[in-house]
Amino acid sequence: VLDKNAAAAAAAATASAQKSASAKNHAPPPPSIVTEPGEDGEKYATGAFLGKGGFAVCYEGTLARNARVFAMKVVKSEMPQKKMEEKFRTELQIHSKMRHPHIVQFHRAFAFEQNTYVVLELCPNGSVMEMVRRRKCLSLPEVRRFMVQLCGAVKYLHKRNVAHRDLKMGNLFLDQHMDIKVGDFGLAAIILSERDEKRRKTLCGTPNYIAPEVLDRSKGGHTQKVDIWSLGVICFAMLTGYPPFQSKTQEEIYKKVRNLTYVWPKDTDCPNHIPEEAKSLVSSCLNLAEDERPDPDDIVEHPFFNMYTSCIPRQLEPSCRLSKPLWL
Ligand code: ADP
Repeated sequence: VLDKNAAAAAAAATASAQKSASAKNHAPPPPSIVTEPGEDGEKYATGAFLGKGGFAVCYEGTLARNARVFAMKVVKSEMPQKKMEEKFRTELQIHSKMRHPHIVQFHRAFAFEQNTYVVLELCPNGSVMEMVRRRKCLSLPEVRRFMVQLCGAVKYLHKRNVAHRDLKMGNLFLDQHMDIKVGDFGLAAIILSERDEKRRKTLCGTPNYIAPEVLDRSKGGHTQKVDIWSLGVICFAMLTGYPPFQSKTQEEIYKKVRNLTYVWPKDTDCPNHIPEEAKSLVSSCLNLAEDERPDPDDIVEHPFFNMYTSCIPRQLEPSCRLSKPLWL
């Protein structure tokens, strides 16, 4: 009976994985063994379905040689749109050069049969987005910890002339220690010269997180400072459970962004009492003048992170994905 149940569960899991990966842009589920081409090509055993994004599906992949488990991002090698192919190429070019404790580690990428496989560090605890959805909002100590880690990653990127340009809670993955790992470099760009910048002035990003100068293409901007704007949005969203410029339509979001219209919830409407320091930190990032936004180093120096008056946990348990830690 147990075997029967297990078989039924496995069949249901496969069916749900297939259904999840059935959109026409997405690659079908990979075979049970994925082989990297070449004489010493590694073999990966395909495991559980992890999730899917705009054009990628993601599965666990166990490296046969040493049983290390990775995340295998699978993308159809031939994409329906040139733009998607470009997005993917940039993603690989930039992501493969990054190495930081708070950035999803890139291991390798290869083509096998009709798909391209990207082997990444596994983040088994989902994303901050899922955590906030479950929890409604995060406690102040958790927000501080995530913000400090995120600032470390952003400082690293910006020092290397990389702008991520799509920082949002759904792209902040959580490893087994509940440490932040920034992922999805699909909109990342190397910011080099003004000429280069002009070419990149394309509208990009997710409405809720978009910085005003990205909307207003005719006006200057579009530098790494867009990421600092997103840090402000992320901080607000982790504290309150919703992004500051949330609206029904994209136009309404853009209008609020341009006018800098956002309202902190009343204490009675929010599980957190949001301190003035948090509000001042968010407002420094959500500055319409990009040059006036702080650098990651300035952010971690902000009184919101004051070691004497605030708590920053050194460690978080995976159980806090589901419920507030008891010690808070
Ligand atoms: P896309 O580039 O298509 O937006 P993502 O990079 O967002 O794809 O990945 C799609 C989904 O796969 C994510 O939402 C997440 O559920 C899962 N995923 C991606 N990278 C990892 C990872 N390193 N570890 C665990 N799951 C991951």
